[in-house]
Amino acid sequence: MAKQKDDNRVDKTLQKLSLDKEAPKGVFILLVLLFVFSIFLTSSISRSDATAVIFGIPFEIKSFTGISSMLGNICLICLAMLFRKTGYITALVLLLLQFPLMCINIFIRRNYGNIPGLFNNILIILAITIIYFGNLKLQDYRNHIREQAITDRLTGLPNRFACSELIQDFLKRSERFALVSVDINDFKSINDTMGHETGDQVLKAVARRWKALANSLNTGTVDFVARSTGDEFLILISGYSTPEDVENTIACYKAALEKKFTIDDCDYYLTACFGYAICPEDSDVIDNLFTFSDAVLHESKKKGSGSRIMRFTPDVFSTEVSMEIERKIRSALSSNKIFCHLQPQYDMDHRLRGFEALARMTDDSGKSISPAEFIPVAEKTGLVDRIDMYVFEMAVKFISDVTNNKDSDITMSVNVSVRHLMKNNFIDDIRKILAKYNVAPFRIEIEITESIMIDSAEKALQRIDELKQLGLKVAIDDFGTGYSSLSYLNSFPTDMLKIDKSFIDNMSLNESSKQYVAMIISIGHTLDLKVISEGVESYEQVNILRSIGCDYIQGFVWGRPMSLEEAGKLVISRK
Ligand code: C2E
Ligand code: MG
Ligand code: MG
Repeated sequence: MAKQKDDNRVDKTLQKLSLDKEAPKGVFILLVLLFVFSIFLTSSISRSDATAVIFGIPFEIKSFTGISSMLGNICLICLAMLFRKTGYITALVLLLLQFPLMCINIFIRRNYGNIPGLFNNILIILAITIIYFGNLKLQDYRNHIREQAITDRLTGLPNRFACSELIQDFLKRSERFALVSVDINDFKSINDTMGHETGDQVLKAVARRWKALANSLNTGTVDFVARSTGDEFLILISGYSTPEDVENTIACYKAALEKKFTIDDCDYYLTACFGYAICPEDSDVIDNLFTFSDAVLHESKKKGSGSRIMRFTPDVFSTEVSMEIERKIRSALSSNKIFCHLQPQYDMDHRLRGFEALARMTDDSGKSISPAEFIPVAEKTGLVDRIDMYVFEMAVKFISDVTNNKDSDITMSVNVSVRHLMKNNFIDDIRKILAKYNVAPFRIEIEITESIMIDSAEKALQRIDELKQLGLKVAIDDFGTGYSSLSYLNSFPTDMLKIDKSFIDNMSLNESSKQYVAMIISIGHTLDLKVISEGVESYEQVNILRSIGCDYIQGFVWGRPMSLEEAGKLVISRK
């Protein structure tokens, strides 16, 4: 039953891709009310013998009857134009309702003054009927275009565009799903040896088989199959309980593909590679999901022929993808296309504590690239130092600007990669920038990830000591994800723990996650640290965090990352 319901939703979402949307319901009600008002107005002014003086000219009120009845006509025409069938039927009913009274007036009471009204109504019925049938034709045409825009011509499956629309819908509803990119192995050889026509037949047969599987209840999940291009397909899987279910569902598609295909008396045996990413665990950004599932697919293809199912992990970014991103980073660094956005941090009474500076980058075409994509590559290639210092300088300059304007007490958190932290000139660079902008060190908080405590504890400890001696604050970012031991935490002279978003996400879902967050907060407080929760998206989460003693909040609920200009305004406008 549940699957049936979800299937309908998939269909509905695809139908929603229509280009023509009806006007809001409020407009419908307004038009009907305006029409009723115009009827009353027409009937009362037609009976009035009064005279109105406008610009010194006397007018009989009666002479305005035409204008008020015109208003009614316009309302009916708008109804038929904007609300298609409902509007047409409503307008028709409103017109026909007047007929009995008009007929009584004309034929029984012999009030022939109603005859023009009767003709008017007949003409309006004609007009709205023409509009209605015109609309129907237009709608057919639009449906046809819509169908073409979301359907793959060859296989009849939905296309990549339809798939991304469905993903947007999943994201809007905060629903879990997996995006699977599929590439059929050695398909080129079928095209080369048997011809493109046979190749097309094979693709159609694959599409039919997978569609039938998606429509059956056999995989145990709700699946949606689309064709991307050539021999590449996409599968969206939702309605699962664990990541193993996703893997099992993909295995069903793999098994279905590996069964013999017979086309024109020839048998074909196919295999394919499946690369997938799960939302929100791997990313909750649509572009990232496509990039990640494509990257892992590419990686699995490199391992040779045979079927393979692989899930995305950050290290699957193949050298090719990395090289392309590296090129983009270098070009962005040389053409000032790296900049930073600031995300506000608040205390529990919604007072601004400060901001976190987050790196942003656009490529040559102006398309923005997510830090989740370029920071790992920048770390691998050593470019991250330059990005970090770029962002650091912009953030320090911002603090300098706002403290010059106003006596401000805001703190600026800046991310520093482990690799950069370990460099010998790191402390010197920081000191120079602080001196250049004359900013007090205690205004700056350096965020380092928890993993540093495990990977390079000794040297990191020395660096953190140096930062503290300089007067900067230190925060442990993404806390809770790196399994660091309590003894390390105790020996690191930090000021703040940042609880990772993944824990905040689960907090309102189950009591044990809430208790886990409460425990981190209490450990932080025991060690005399402040605690900030990251990725807070709802008021429910704010209330829970308040009840368990969290100190600060950073998340979309109170502020998304914003430009320096907007952040400056926020500082000035705060209470
Ligand atoms: P992070 O330091 O943990 O930063 C927080 C990330 O969570 C940011 O993603 C922010 O936009 C996102 N976020 C904050 N609140 C919410 C929320 O309510 N909902 C959701 N869905 N997301 C939220 P962003 O900007 O994509 O940065 C990703 C990561 O990239 C950062 O994680 C950080 O590790 C790294 N990064 C960003 N800028 C820099 C930088 O200048 N240097 C270095 N080394 N790393 C950086
Ligand atoms: Mg951070
Ligand atoms: Mg974080």
